[in-house]
Amino acid sequence: MSHHHAEVGSSSCSTWIIHGPLSVTQERGPTVEEAAPQVKHFKRPVEHPVTRPERDHVTFLWGGLTSRHEALITAGMEALGYKVQLVPTPTKADFQTGKEYCNNGMCNPAYFTAGALINFLKRLRDVEGLSTAEIIRHYAFVTAGSAGPCRFGMYEAEYRLALRNSGFDGFRVLLFQQEGGLRQTGAEDAVEVNAQFIITLLNGLIIGDILNELAYQIRPYETEPGQTDRVFARVVDRVRDRIHAKATHALKGRTLAKVLACALPDLGSDQLEPIVDQLVDDFYLETLRECAVMIDDELEVDFTRAKPRVKVIGEIWAQTTEGDGNFRLFHYLESHGAEVLVEPLMTWVNYLCDMALCRLADSKGLGAQGTARGRRNLAGRLKDAFDYRKSRLIIALAAQGLAREYDRVRRALGGTTRPQLDQAELRRLAQPFFNYKTSGGEGHLEVSKTIYYATRHWAHMVLSVKPFGCLPSTQSDGAQAAVLARYPEINFISIETSGEGDVNAYSRIQMALGEAKAACKAEFAASLAKTGYTLEDIRAYCAAHRNLRRPLQHIPQHKGVCGKGANFIMNVAARMDADPAWRGRKGAGLAGTPCTPCLAGR
Ligand code: SF4
Repeated sequence: MSHHHAEVGSSSCSTWIIHGPLSVTQERGPTVEEAAPQVKHFKRPVEHPVTRPERDHVTFLWGGLTSRHEALITAGMEALGYKVQLVPTPTKADFQTGKEYCNNGMCNPAYFTAGALINFLKRLRDVEGLSTAEIIRHYAFVTAGSAGPCRFGMYEAEYRLALRNSGFDGFRVLLFQQEGGLRQTGAEDAVEVNAQFIITLLNGLIIGDILNELAYQIRPYETEPGQTDRVFARVVDRVRDRIHAKATHALKGRTLAKVLACALPDLGSDQLEPIVDQLVDDFYLETLRECAVMIDDELEVDFTRAKPRVKVIGEIWAQTTEGDGNFRLFHYLESHGAEVLVEPLMTWVNYLCDMALCRLADSKGLGAQGTARGRRNLAGRLKDAFDYRKSRLIIALAAQGLAREYDRVRRALGGTTRPQLDQAELRRLAQPFFNYKTSGGEGHLEVSKTIYYATRHWAHMVLSVKPFGCLPSTQSDGAQAAVLARYPEINFISIETSGEGDVNAYSRIQMALGEAKAACKAEFAASLAKTGYTLEDIRAYCAAHRNLRRPLQHIPQHKGVCGKGANFIMNVAARMDADPAWRGRKGAGLAGTPCTPCLAGR
């Protein structure tokens, strides 16, 4: 060792020497590459397709929506010739299974869904006696995918990993992209994601949305407990039969589709035929009208009750599931006297269309590569302008077509459910608090729906459900603080849904619900006072008029009045005013002092 070198430290494997004032070197020992720990990089599990020849002996598993959506979409898939089975709504036990086999740090819906799938497969193996090889050969899981940016983009890879960890290595997870177009699959794929498939899916979503909303509108006011669920179960069966019948029903408008195919060669007549059929045929509407009559005739309601309206918003899976994934929130709220306003899944589909239009508008003037053409490249610029307008027209037509279909179904089922939300208005409302270009999860929708429902007096309380570990919902919740500073009158609460923690969440909900009930009762009492009748007289009038006990009657909303009960009694009072047999009772007795059972929402 040179005397210019000073020994400054040693270890069992090396000695460090200073060479001059700045340089440090290692006298011996491993190189950097040798010293680096062996890193085993994560590789996306291999995707095994389900091929067309396998289609007849593979059962496609899916789930995750409400029971009504699931029943109708399953019927649609069966009508298209697929063997389909539902994975039951995830429970807490499924969540624990998901945590056991998935990576750490996933968001809640991934744990619930992966766990439910794994437990379903285990039951096939351990209870029904199928071998693992048979399960892998005869079953596959179908799920929606996305390009992100949140973890949704990685779900299917996570499922595959969890399946491998739980002993089902090679079990197939098939993905269809929610932003994908009409052709997402190759000629050999068993599941053909084409126009017919997407239309079938959308019909199930739309009819499921409206039936679901109707059931939540009616159940809190039913006079015979359990009757709503019984009638709606029969309604769903009837619609399911109709969907099955579609398999043998000839498509309408084939000639028109062929003509359109000349103008839209990219789509071709095979894709345009089911689209045109959907637009010109009213295959489901007659059945839905019959269902509306069935609902109106077989159910009886008492709308003279003060029940706070609670709008549930939040991450799409958490706000939709009817199980432990959101602490069985809907049941909890209804059993505590609330009327729940559920969110149609079509709001999400419209949001995707709207975002596609916004992204397109941002790319105006740019070519397919995202760059502007040179000023002299006139032909190129004309082509870009043409392509832009064509894309815009196609997306706008798709959005219009969806809005029309939604409205047709809504009207066939009585027309008492809400029209679709105006996406431009939602963007405008969110803009001061949340940039609509920030995508992921529900994007700006959580913020805008809070303002929309509360300021239009559509809800006494807004409840946001945020799955544990959800980044976009956490972001939205941050912005909600600013929303509440601007609109302090909004009764807003956000709860985090983890697998556990329900007791804590319930107690927080109860506090907010207490406030909502108080507001609802005050509004009801004020409305009753305005009518000049007693509640007993209004109820007696309803008892004498069957139409006022029908669930699908239209109840116009009075300015600034939110509760269904308060609006209802004012409308009944207006009818009583016009009825000589009843108007004499006005001002008599206890006007303005509602009875205790009414105010308790019973
Ligand atoms: S929105 Fe939230 S909960 Fe849903 S996938 Fe994305 S991160 Fe997960």
